[in-house]
Amino acid sequence: VSYGFQQVAPEEKTRRVGSVFARVAARYDIMNDLMSGGLHRSWKDAFVSMLRPRAGEQILDMAGGTGDIAFRMAEKGAQVTVADINPAMLDVGIERAAKRGLTDLVWREQNAEKLDFPDAHFDAYTIAFGIRNVTDIPAALREAHRVLRYGGRFFCLEFSTTEWPGFGQIYDAYSHKVVPKIGKLVARDEEAYRYLVESIRRFPPMPEFAKMITAAGFSRVSVRPILGGLVAIHSGWKV
Ligand code: SAM
Repeated sequence: VSYGFQQVAPEEKTRRVGSVFARVAARYDIMNDLMSGGLHRSWKDAFVSMLRPRAGEQILDMAGGTGDIAFRMAEKGAQVTVADINPAMLDVGIERAAKRGLTDLVWREQNAEKLDFPDAHFDAYTIAFGIRNVTDIPAALREAHRVLRYGGRFFCLEFSTTEWPGFGQIYDAYSHKVVPKIGKLVARDEEAYRYLVESIRRFPPMPEFAKMITAAGFSRVSVRPILGGLVAIHSGWKV
C-alpha cells in the first residue's frame, strides 16, 4: 500500500486516512507514548490548561479519536462531545471512557468538513493532532466557526515546524527513520506511520495556518509554539 497523498483525489485521501486510523486504532495510544517518549501527555495537558474548560461548558472535541483531550476536559466538569470520522478510533475511546467511569461523554461519528451540529451550539471547539488529516482544512475551519457560539473559542494542537536551529534536522531524521520502524514493530504497519510522518511535513507553517484560521472568520488568532514550534497551539475567538 502506498500513502503518497499528493496526487490523489480528495475522496481518495479521506478514504486512505480512514484506513490508516482503522488499522492503527488498537495500538494508537501505546504508539503515541513510544513515538513521543510520553511527551504527548504533557502537550495535551498544556493544551487543556490553556483552554481552561469550565464546569458545564459544551465542548466539541473534533477528531477526538480515543479520547485523550476529551477525558482531560470532562474531568474539569465540561460536557464533552467527542466527534471523529473513524468508528474504530471511537470504539477504543468508548471502552477507555468506561474504564475511567466517564459516563457523560457523547460520541459521534462525524466528518470535520461537514458537521451535523446546529449553528452556535458549542462554547469551545478543540482539535488535537487531527486537522492535518482532514482533506479540506478550510472547510473544517469554517464548520468550527459555524458550530461555535459568539464568544466561543477555537483551540488546535498540531505538529508544526520547529524553528530551533539543528533541532529540525534531528527531528526529521528521527521521524523518517525511526518512527516507521516503531510502527512496523509495534503496530505492524510501517506504511501507516510513513503517512503520519509525511502528513506532518506537509502541514503549513505556523504563520500560514494562523492566516487560514483568520480566513475562516476567527478573531484574535494566536499561536503558542512548543519546542520551537515542533508542536503548536493555535487559538482564535468567534466574536
Ligand atoms: N485527538 C486525538 C488525540 O489527540 O489523541 C486523536 C488524534 S489522531 C492522530 C487523528 C484523528 O483524526 C483520528 O482519530 C482520525 O480518525 C481523525 N480524523 C481524520 N480525518 C478526519 C475528518 N475529516 N473528520 C473527523 N475526524 C478525522
